[in-house]
Amino acid sequence: MARYKDAVCRLCRREGMKLFLKGAKCFTDKCPVEKRNFAPGQHGKDRKAKVVGYGLQLREKQKAKRIYFTQEGQFRNYFEKAVRSKGVTGELLLQQLERRLDSVVYRMGFGVSRRQARQLVRHGHVAVNGRKVNIPSCQVNPGDEISVREGSRKLTILEQAKDFAAHQNAPSWLEIDRDNYKGRMLALPKRDEIQMPVNEQLIVELYSK
Ligand code: SF4
Repeated sequence: MARYKDAVCRLCRREGMKLFLKGAKCFTDKCPVEKRNFAPGQHGKDRKAKVVGYGLQLREKQKAKRIYFTQEGQFRNYFEKAVRSKGVTGELLLQQLERRLDSVVYRMGFGVSRRQARQLVRHGHVAVNGRKVNIPSCQVNPGDEISVREGSRKLTILEQAKDFAAHQNAPSWLEIDRDNYKGRMLALPKRDEIQMPVNEQLIVELYSK
């Protein structure tokens, strides 16, 4: 699968807002959105046209994809599944993104960003219900226990993530035991518990054309 390898801060600048993709740096004045809040590239400063209609819908979809580091095909699959399920399509779409294992690991505070959490999963440092799982897109279900595997708990990035997470609010749908590097999903996240700067209705409208 194609992977984005350029500087992630460009993604925030493209969307014109902080997407919090880099952990601690996002909260400092070194954040490029603070210093250069215009689109990246040679003509970035010139592109100031107001985005409306289709463009706005497209930008919302791109934003959501970038926050969760998903590719178009996978994102589309989440949408199709949300359409087939009972409930509000936009909310179900965001719920699936939040339930990705890498996102849950990030929400539990074991990584300073989703990208770092994804790397932890990929490298086999995470277990679901006691079994190693190295698939970042794996969907976590209510009742599942997520833990950092015993032999991985001395990683420096985990210490850094713990310090970082101490300043963040823990989501109400997760039970977290940071000292023992584990946690449990208590319930599916509701829309008001997913604090994302995304208008999911615009994404639904885009895909429903
Ligand atoms: Fe985005 Fe964080 Fe980079 Fe700022 S520092 S541009 S919020 S990833």
